[in-house]
Amino acid sequence: LENITQMKKLENMRRDFVSNVTHELKTPLTSIRGFIDTLKGGAIQDEVVAKRFLDIIDIEAERLHILIQDILLLSEIESKGDKETKDCDITHTISDVIELLQPKMTDKVYIIFDNNSNIRPFPCNPDRMKQLFINLLDNAIKYTEEGSVRIQCKEKQDKLFISISDTGIGIEEKYLDRIFERFYRVDKGRSRKMGGTGLGLSIVKHIVELYNGKINVYSTSGVGTTFEIWLPYGK
Ligand code: ADP
Repeated sequence: LENITQMKKLENMRRDFVSNVTHELKTPLTSIRGFIDTLKGGAIQDEVVAKRFLDIIDIEAERLHILIQDILLLSEIESKGDKETKDCDITHTISDVIELLQPKMTDKVYIIFDNNSNIRPFPCNPDRMKQLFINLLDNAIKYTEEGSVRIQCKEKQDKLFISISDTGIGIEEKYLDRIFERFYRVDKGRSRKMGGTGLGLSIVKHIVELYNGKINVYSTSGVGTTFEIWLPYGK
């Protein structure tokens, strides 16, 4: 009986996922088609307005692209696990990601990286590890209007310890255990405007679990958010 309940639960999860994906893909597509129809109708004489419509089409198409990439990435991590493991210099990975995200930073947010160069290389897939930092740092920057994003990385109790702390909008306690769910967003409108898919943290959690690690989140509304990750060095 327990097995049947479990199977039903899995089937429901699968169904929810498919219906979520469908909905998330439909929203930008509907908007793109709407604006194309209007432009094709020929009623828009004003070039400035026409240009604005094209910009929206462009943004929505990009959204669709990111969404599809994220969905594929999630299913890849789930089905294939991690075959391409090599010793990674995590400090290096973090520095790369900070550089990558520079264009997204405003001058009101600054990054502090407590660079500890004595960390033992961590065996992992470098692309996956990079993705983990991209998603967490991108969120930290996105949800912080003003202040700092602090990254710490060190060896602690034979584990790799990573902490990413921001001074942003924070997350109300009642939402904290839901943010790792696929497509879950605390504020749908806000997240959408910021270019969020609601898949970022779900991907992060999958990557952490790929390496038998743990992720914790601490947050205070209006004060900031801290994500802590523990990754065991293994055998
Ligand atoms: P999104 O693409 O919407 O950012 P995520 O899965 O990355 O999706 O995050 C889920 C939700 O968790 C976000 O919509 C946001 O509400 C909240 N969140 C994630 N990181 C932060 C953060 N650093 N500060 C405040 N809220 C956050």
